[in-house]
Amino acid sequence: MKDTCIFCKIIREEIPTKKIYENENFLSIPDANPRVEGHSLVISKKHFENILDMPTSLGQELIDCIKKTSLKLMDEKKAKGFNVINNNFKVAGQIVKHVHFHIIPRKKDDGEIKFINKS
Ligand code: AMP
Ligand code: ZN
Repeated sequence: MKDTCIFCKIIREEIPTKKIYENENFLSIPDANPRVEGHSLVISKKHFENILDMPTSLGQELIDCIKKTSLKLMDEKKAKGFNVINNNFKVAGQIVKHVHFHIIPRKKDDGEIKFINKS
């Protein structure tokens, strides 16, 4: 799996990509098919299929990568907020079986994502 996994290939630098931020265990990159300007992905450097396979001890570095990436994107894209989305298993929309977190920069009235919108 690791040999053919698209995100493992990015980590091994077999596929060139722009690095937004990285720490020891995580890397953030632009999504190849962005839903909005700045849509990016935080991916683990080791191959875990989903969040359930990822050791809890990596939580601190994961949050570090999410925070640094989101702050950079909000600044660069002049966004006022962001969503963090993590799909686990096919039924939840996971296509790439290597744990990753979508960072979606948000602007007022962009209307892009609606889960539970009370107003
Ligand atoms: P998911 O449905 O959560 O598995 O989403 C996988 C995401 O990976 C999609 O948004 C794809 O556009 C993105 N993706 C697939 N291949 C690449 C790639 N080589 N570089 C960057 N993003 C990718
Ligand atoms: Zn992988």
